[in-house]
Amino acid sequence: MKLLEGKVKTVFETDEEDKVLIRYDDKVSAFNGEHMEYPRDKGATCCMISALLFERLEAVGIKTHYLSVPTLNTMLCRKVKIVPVEVICRNRAAGSIIEHTEGLEEGQLFDPPIIEFFLKDDYKGDPLLTLDRLRLMGIDPEPFILRTTSINWELQKIFDKIGMDLIDFKLEFGYDDRGGLNLADEISPDSMRLWKKGTKERFDKDLFRKDEGDIVEAYKYILQKLQKSV
Ligand code: 5GP
Repeated sequence: MKLLEGKVKTVFETDEEDKVLIRYDDKVSAFNGEHMEYPRDKGATCCMISALLFERLEAVGIKTHYLSVPTLNTMLCRKVKIVPVEVICRNRAAGSIIEHTEGLEEGQLFDPPIIEFFLKDDYKGDPLLTLDRLRLMGIDPEPFILRTTSINWELQKIFDKIGMDLIDFKLEFGYDDRGGLNLADEISPDSMRLWKKGTKERFDKDLFRKDEGDIVEAYKYILQKLQKSV
């Protein structure tokens, strides 16, 4: 039975109470769902990239909700209670941080990387949260900052090997029934910015947001490169 339908993924219950099946749909959305398209193979490509990245993160001890990929576009995952916060990590300036501040140049390096928290609520427009506001919501930011820092370090190594600069990315976390914090949702070029090393050539959802190219072709390129790299 369907548990919930997101903008580009659908979550189903399974015979086991502590597991869910997440179907990656052939959909891409931008601007809070205002702009939708249905590109063929997009779901399977994001599912395969996410699975590969979850596996690589698990291999270095980062706990994720990922269990297996029963089909090309479905992922069996541990059931978690999603924390209603989007954690954004930025290695270079791009997107909303340029729009909402002054004096930043696109591509400018952040050293150390910047970690930001946004409320995960489409109706409220996903506003930027302060650390005090997070604490008022009963959320201690520290474990999220530590986990995101380790994930950023690993992802940067993975993408560096395939000739890509990881500009920024969004993570979601959830608690399992034992109280363990798991990296959840998806990690794919749908929720990160990837530029070809040393350039601003995009291989991510900005291609769709800016109507600059075929995202499935770009995502498939990333998937093939990742599959070939060790
Ligand atoms: P920005 O804050 O610049 O819009 O986004 C920063 C990074 O997080 C980008 O890589 C962007 O793709 C990702 N991101 C932010 N919000 C969302 C979201 O609601 N959905 C997805 N898929 N990615 C997001």
